[in-house]
Amino acid sequence: MYLKWRKGCHGKGMIYIKCPKCLKKFSRSLKSNSQIVKCGFFKRNSDRKIVQRYYCTACKKHFSSATFSDCFNQKKRHYNCKVAQLLVSAVSLRECSRVLKINRKSVVRKLIFMGKKAKIDLDKFNNKLPIAKEVLFDDLETFEHTKCKPVSIGLMVEEGTRRVLGYNIARMPAKGLLAKISVKKYGKRIDERPKKRAELFNEMKNLVHDRAIVKSDECPYYFKFIKRHFPNASHITFKGRASAIVGQGELKKVGFDPLFSLNHTCATLRARVSRLIRRTWNTTKKPERLDLHLAIVCLFHNRNLKSYLPSPAAG
Ligand SMILES: [Zn+2]
Repeated sequence: MYLKWRKGCHGKGMIYIKCPKCLKKFSRSLKSNSQIVKCGFFKRNSDRKIVQRYYCTACKKHFSSATFSDCFNQKKRHYNCKVAQLLVSAVSLRECSRVLKINRKSVVRKLIFMGKKAKIDLDKFNNKLPIAKEVLFDDLETFEHTKCKPVSIGLMVEEGTRRVLGYNIARMPAKGLLAKISVKKYGKRIDERPKKRAELFNEMKNLVHDRAIVKSDECPYYFKFIKRHFPNASHITFKGRASAIVGQGELKKVGFDPLFSLNHTCATLRARVSRLIRRTWNTTKKPERLDLHLAIVCLFHNRNLKSYLPSPAAG
């Protein structure tokens, strides 16, 4: 499985050593006239790694090569990747804690840590690749706590490669039969979709070509956003069709599906994120956590796409 997380977890790859107090940088080779001197080692409890300690003679400060690491102060850093691997494999947070035999609060902390990291890495990954000339856009619906509090996930995917360019999470009011019950039980719910959609389209300006082809379903609200943010793009709409039982209701029943790249990605997300599976009893309690969970899954999805896998020669 190609699941490579960001390097630098253990302070490797640092060319310079920086004193945390006076913030002066020195080369790692430490010449004799350097104000930083080596000062022994310590063995880290969590992964039994030997870490170099340093001493700044100017400000009398002790520090180590792990001081500036992303995982600084973490007691269970060896679980970070394991939790991320389980979270992209349709395992719920509680099941994850049972499998790894750690507390569920630790799992949440790992989700937050890896999610924030994945968000940065997803941006970097997408910015490295050429800008998309044909994209698909749609909303995927889920809920927080109860079906009376629906949440919408706006998703933009590149045509053909199925690369996730971006997504956004917005609260929305309940529809249909649940609308009245929802208002009675939980009060009026604000519709965040227009604001969040505008934010997503704004972010996408760096990743999508100015004259791109944007494909979507016949939702009347998309038109003005695409016109406002991509005035030179051509917008093509397709009629919604009956969904098949397979593919979590995202794949279509018969014939050629013009929005296949997006629908297939949505089906993958539903299969990979335990809280998005249809008819599940797992629910999202906080949309912010759903956001971080999706970041981990989208990064994993993008890195595992055949077209973007590094060639064997390149290592
Ligand atoms: Zn110093």
